[in-house]
Parts: sequence; C-alpha cells; structure tokens
Amino acid sequence: MTHTEYLYFNTKERTEFVRITEQVNEAIRKSKMTSGLALVNPSHITAAVIVNDDEPGLKKDFIRLLKKLAPEGERYDHNLTGEDNAYAHLWRTLMGHQVVMPFTDGHLDLGPWEQIFYLEFDGQRKKRVVIKLVGD
Ligand code: ZN
Repeated sequence: MTHTEYLYFNTKERTEFVRITEQVNEAIRKSKMTSGLALVNPSHITAAVIVNDDEPGLKKDFIRLLKKLAPEGERYDHNLTGEDNAYAHLWRTLMGHQVVMPFTDGHLDLGPWEQIFYLEFDGQRKKRVVIKLVGD
C-alpha cells in the first residue's frame, strides 16, 4: 500500500527549523497502515528535511556551521542570475535532501531523541513537503 500527504509552509523567517514529527505521525494514522517506511521530501531546492535532536542550542549550532561554510553575503555565480539565494541551495545540500524513516505499530519508530524537521532556508513564501508512505 501507499499513501501520500502534503504539508504546506509559509515561514515567518527566511531561515527556520519546523518540527514535523507530529504531522508525519498523523499521516501514518490517516493511512491506517501499521508498518512500513515514511519518505519525507521537501519539494524545494532551498529546503531540507533532517532527523535530529529538538534542542534549541543545536539548531543555532547548525546555522552557525552553515554560515561559516557558505555565508549568505558571499559572491556566488548563482546570484549573477538575479537571485540572492545561492547560500540556501548550498545549505540544503549540506544538510541533506530528504529522509526515509521506519514506522511500526502505526507510528514512527524513532530513537529516544529523534525528531523530524523541515529546514527552511529561503522562506516567507509558500513551500511544500511530500510525505510518501509505503507499507501495509
Ligand atoms: Zn536560486
């Protein structure tokens, strides 16, 4: 069986971490599947989906690392096209693209500190995440 859900975001900040563990569990519940895999994919090339700890200091540490590796104000060839979001494309690939997580007994089979996050790097406009469930 498969089941597909979409989440929509329009973040207040240009860069934002949004915890979506609960929405993924809700999609699993609606699917009525008990066991399988949940693929969570941001449909945009300036956003990422990751699994990590929901700890505020760590979120700041990730952003600090990304700013060090690819500062927003750097000279980028991509920005010569008239865009200003080259850093966001780079951050998305540095943080990873999408995740595939197991679900068991009708909910995400997470480790004790695992949470799923949507990472917005060029927000303040409508964005989408696809949740694709495969299982039975
Ligand atoms: Zn761009």
